[in-house]
Amino acid sequence: MMGKLTAGLKKTRTALSGRLREVFAPGAAHDEEETLEALEEALLLSDVGLGTIEKLLARLSKDARGGTSLVDALKGRMTALWPENPAPEGPPPAPWVHLFIGVNGVGKTTTIGKLAAKRTAAGQSGLLGAADTFRAAAAEQLEIWAERAGTAFLRQREGADPAAVAFDSVQVGMSKRLDFVFVDTAGRLHVKHNLMAELEKIYRVIGKAMEGAPHQVSLVLDATTGQNGLSQARRFLEAVPVSDLVLTKLDGTAKGGIALSIADELQLPIRMVGVGESVEDLIPFDPGEYVDALLSLDNDA
Ligand code: GDP
Repeated sequence: MMGKLTAGLKKTRTALSGRLREVFAPGAAHDEEETLEALEEALLLSDVGLGTIEKLLARLSKDARGGTSLVDALKGRMTALWPENPAPEGPPPAPWVHLFIGVNGVGKTTTIGKLAAKRTAAGQSGLLGAADTFRAAAAEQLEIWAERAGTAFLRQREGADPAAVAFDSVQVGMSKRLDFVFVDTAGRLHVKHNLMAELEKIYRVIGKAMEGAPHQVSLVLDATTGQNGLSQARRFLEAVPVSDLVLTKLDGTAKGGIALSIADELQLPIRMVGVGESVEDLIPFDPGEYVDALLSLDNDA
């Protein structure tokens, strides 16, 4: 059966495979230079950045000696771009405090909802805190996910201090001995400086509510924004220590190659990817499957 990640990459693969087939299909005779050029073009099409492409292709034929094909050599280089992603050791602290940051519309609330639903289905208890106090609609959407997932929910009046919501959420999580507290945040780009200052404050205040928290900070990126998303990401990385990335909407884009640029330029693990809008469409990211799917010549694979 086709994996969900492979299925989610269909648009990207369709955009790439025509060009790849021209050079790699059985019987296609091309010299190495032409092959590398075609690979460069194909990767550019899927929104891999030029710097990353150069790194991937430089002296690739050297790796490809001794029976390894050029494609397999490339797959090896691509997979090696991702940093190690070891599972944490020992029992997690309770509550596990997980902060979600990113620009409006990238899929933060949806990701929180999906992840919460997975955890409650596994028997855990949790709370979703709406620290986006600027848009009433954002809190309402989070509340719907909290009801669906069966978690507690905390919000304050519109315009309240987002850091106060985060603080209270962690305190409630501690006093009720919950397994997890997820904190949703605002992502208004037009007031960038204030947003970053606000995120810093939220991060700091969470640490005051519970020593060692937040235990995880995920930056959510929308794959459909390609290279633009990458420059946004850098702003967020300056504001707070980010532990990992969630890449959403891979299903909706031919720019799925952006995951390679992210790995190369940000040096952060992609923990999860979103390949659709329902709960089961948030899946762990597997670099090996990703690379195989990206470079597959089979459109239907
Ligand atoms: P937020 O402003 O960052 O909290 O973004 P939302 O969670 O409200 O998501 C914005 C839109 O993106 C919603 O319509 C979601 O259903 C949609 N969305 C989120 N993740 C995915 C995904 O992985 N695939 C697709 N196709 N849509 C998604």
